[in-house]
Amino acid sequence: MIAKVIVDVPANQTDRLFDYAIPEEWEEMIEPGMRVVVPFGPRKIQGFVISVANESEHAKLKELSEVKDVTPILTQELLDLGFWLTEKALCYAVSALQAMLPAAMKANVTKTVVLGNRVNEEATWHRMVSSNGVKWDDFLSHFSHKELNRAIKNDELEVRYDVKEKTAPKTILSVSAALQKDELQKEKEKMGNRALKQQEIIAHFIENEGAVSYKELMDMLDTTRSTIKSLVSKEILKEEEVELYRDPYKGREFTPSTALELTDLQEQAITPILTSIEDHHHETFLIHGVTGSGKTEIYLQSIHRVLEQGKEAIVLVPEISLTPQMVTRFKSRFGSEVAVLHSGLSRGEKYDEWRKIHRKEVKVVVGARSAVFAPFTNLGIIIIDEEHESSYKQEENPRYHARDVAIKRGEHYNCPVVLGSATPSLESYARASKGVYTLLELLHRVNKQAMPTVSIVDMREELRAGNRSMFSNDLYDKLKDRLEKKEQTVLFLNRRGYSTFVMCRDCGYVAECPHCDISLTYHKINGTMRCHYCGHEERFPTQCPECESEHIRFFGTGTQRVEEELTKILPEARVVRMDVDTTRRKGAHEKLLNQFGEGKADILLGTQMIAKGLDFPNVTLVGVLAGDAMLHIPDFRASEKTFQLLTQVSGRAGRHLLPGEVIVQSYTPEHYSIEMASEHDYQSFYQREMVTRKQFGYPPFYFLAMVNVSHEELTKTVDVTEKIAAYLKEHLSKQSVVLGPVASPIPRIKDRYRYQCMIKYKTEPNLTHYLKEIQKHFSKEISRGGLQLSIDTQPYMMM
Ligand code: ADP
Ligand code: ZN
Ligand code: ZN
Repeated sequence: MIAKVIVDVPANQTDRLFDYAIPEEWEEMIEPGMRVVVPFGPRKIQGFVISVANESEHAKLKELSEVKDVTPILTQELLDLGFWLTEKALCYAVSALQAMLPAAMKANVTKTVVLGNRVNEEATWHRMVSSNGVKWDDFLSHFSHKELNRAIKNDELEVRYDVKEKTAPKTILSVSAALQKDELQKEKEKMGNRALKQQEIIAHFIENEGAVSYKELMDMLDTTRSTIKSLVSKEILKEEEVELYRDPYKGREFTPSTALELTDLQEQAITPILTSIEDHHHETFLIHGVTGSGKTEIYLQSIHRVLEQGKEAIVLVPEISLTPQMVTRFKSRFGSEVAVLHSGLSRGEKYDEWRKIHRKEVKVVVGARSAVFAPFTNLGIIIIDEEHESSYKQEENPRYHARDVAIKRGEHYNCPVVLGSATPSLESYARASKGVYTLLELLHRVNKQAMPTVSIVDMREELRAGNRSMFSNDLYDKLKDRLEKKEQTVLFLNRRGYSTFVMCRDCGYVAECPHCDISLTYHKINGTMRCHYCGHEERFPTQCPECESEHIRFFGTGTQRVEEELTKILPEARVVRMDVDTTRRKGAHEKLLNQFGEGKADILLGTQMIAKGLDFPNVTLVGVLAGDAMLHIPDFRASEKTFQLLTQVSGRAGRHLLPGEVIVQSYTPEHYSIEMASEHDYQSFYQREMVTRKQFGYPPFYFLAMVNVSHEELTKTVDVTEKIAAYLKEHLSKQSVVLGPVASPIPRIKDRYRYQCMIKYKTEPNLTHYLKEIQKHFSKEISRGGLQLSIDTQPYMMM
């Protein structure tokens, strides 16, 4: 028997199946989807068994060295999905397979120096290595590389590669009954009226099944370790290591919730989803529901139906660690059936949550992007909330979009996929308009609360009227009014594309990173300027390097500065500030939100992280300080992103009984994305933006593909990009457009030049083939490390 294996070396030359002989003793046991360790050249590396066959066309096969899993960790469905992804995202098969597993399961190789076949007792290292070998690093701290190499050549030393799990399951020493219940009863009776504590412990195991940890038993029965131990030594109980889950939500109470009675609108929207669940047929739904229209309740009740059928559910939420309110809603409804996967968990915690899914101990997973690969085997629904979020696209290999993966899995399991958003991506809405997806609309809030009124303030006018503060008069008045009424305010500062740069007021010089061609950011705490791409740091200059003027200042607004100004103009206001600085510690995010939720602050001030998902009844005012900051990023989706963000932020106001109000401050108030967001008019925005997309040939009218090239030498970078563009122009059809080569919007990062070439096309059946040819052509230069080439068949980041 032989195993066909994908090895863990992401490179062009190794991106294929390798045959290995299965040692006889393992023949019964090896299955596709298991991890194995295989000899590969001089090393041992990890790999995935893809299939098992009777014979190989190659002679003299090496044998598998180790089996890492008792049961497959990837099902056949996930293996197939991996190969589909390989084609779709143009990545190595091993990268696709690895993307489906928690990071903790990736191989980690340790190297040990051991004695070889030829004995050399004279050697200086002999004593050190003789018995068990020494760690590679320890050896080299005593001896040179040269000595090591010579000894290896002479067969006096060898290097052993051990593949280790990065995170092992955590275990706890526990005890369980070593005897049947009737025998336990006899042992207890034998004790008569001696050893009452021991009898109590035995009684516990007569009444209960399973193992209990020492600690738990000691607490529960108020006994000592030695009392329990004595029962172990009498072989009435036995010790065992029990796996322990690191549960990030341990000890937290979730008030159980039950299904709400749906409104008529919700009822209409959920019916087709329930039908799809009942009929076991795949369909993709797009719920376009305004903020507060009760989408989440629809998700919860759809999942309920899926669970009744004994099936499983995946819910994707963007940056979920940032919305604890969302997790709470799922945990409250489905309790311990829910696993949570997000980036805020430690590596070990993620691994544990993943194992709960793998072992079928949970039926619902709520998670960020990669949770779309949850190893369920009987999926009944996949839900993607805030489907327009760009965080569903992975920006490293494999460059996949969670929406595509979800639909692929939905087809396999004949189950519905539900996309939900108040501001659907243009791509999804266009598909729904064409009938590819089924459109479900929820155009009113639950209980018909009015949408908040939005007013736009022209900041140029404010300046002309002599107001130099970052708060318009209107916003200031409203802030004061809310303080008096004891209502709360959310103040949103858009920081993307709007950072604190340093500029000379006399000559206009802007401090830039010497390596990255972007402006440096001022950090008040230590008075330095820092580059956000490469970490380069300089002291804040006392005079302008260009004109020697002393009028060099930082511009732009950070949350810290807003907070300072707030305390000046409204000293009585209690402010909670949420940004990367105040939320760095684990749990800080949730703590700050709770503080605000409990009414211990009047104003919640923050960046993107407070824009979505928050639901506080007492918030009646939302202020947006720089509504147009995102309009000027170099990205064809800039207007769409501005519209989405303003709509999301506005949705935080007046979600319950009190009506809400929003003030958007802007330097370009007449822009359609700002105007239409203020009117809550998605339809008009969609129509208007589609015109532009059509005119300039962008999605959803055209597909895009992007090739990014980077190298330390500018001429090399340009040269390679030119060759690629020329090759594509020659091979693609006349209807397709190849743009470039052009310098990327950020033309240099970490001393590497960056060029790109964009392809716009309608149909190009062989595009994947051509792109693969390009990868192949440059593979040598790439593996030598000088050249970097990334191909994205669905680009979202244009930088
Ligand atoms: P969305 O996800 O569309 O923003 P939510 O599901 O968060 O909307 O609903 C907004 C608010 O309305 C929440 O507080 C929710 O508990 C409440 N809600 C949702 N559906 C109902 C219903 N059928 N009856 C009463 N309240 C509801
Ligand atoms: Zn100057
Ligand atoms: Zn830099």
